Amino acid sequence: MAYDPDNIFAKILKGEIPCHKIYEDEDTLAFLDIMPRTEGHALVITKEKARDLFDIDPAALGRLMAVVQTLAPKIKQAVGADGVLIQQFNGAAAGQTVFHLHIHIVPIKQGVAPKPHAGEMADQAELAATAEKIRKAIA
Ligand code: 5GP
Repeated sequence: MAYDPDNIFAKILKGEIPCHKIYEDEDTLAFLDIMPRTEGHALVITKEKARDLFDIDPAALGRLMAVVQTLAPKIKQAVGADGVLIQQFNGAAAGQTVFHLHIHIVPIKQGVAPKPHAGEMADQAELAATAEKIRKAIA
């Protein structure tokens, strides 16, 4: 299936939809998931027009994953988590709901189960406060 240039994350990249941004460079944007599985659940997206993991060249994928590797420990530290779950879904059958390649960073606290994937909308003020904490940890 072709890449849809009007998917939600493409609109976020174009600035047509707001997000709680935590990081940006020339290839990558990272922001908080609107339905977080845990506090600090972030999405790292490529600026390439790629639907999923199989729709991007390896060098661009490498740049995306390098950002995930850098941000994950900082997010973990910012929210006081003990571990980090990295998730990535390919195709509706696998649970993908937004067809623009993205990597989930889900900080996990010992003994606290994450909420279901794409479950409940978070409070915007809480997301804003978490994003601010994470931006400080990244700076
Ligand atoms: P996936 O495609 O990997 O299944 O997940 C897409 C993720 O995007 C979900 O975790 C969902 O909560 C999140 N999401 C969906 N719409 C929006 C949105 O408009 N803004 C943000 N920040 N996250 C979104």
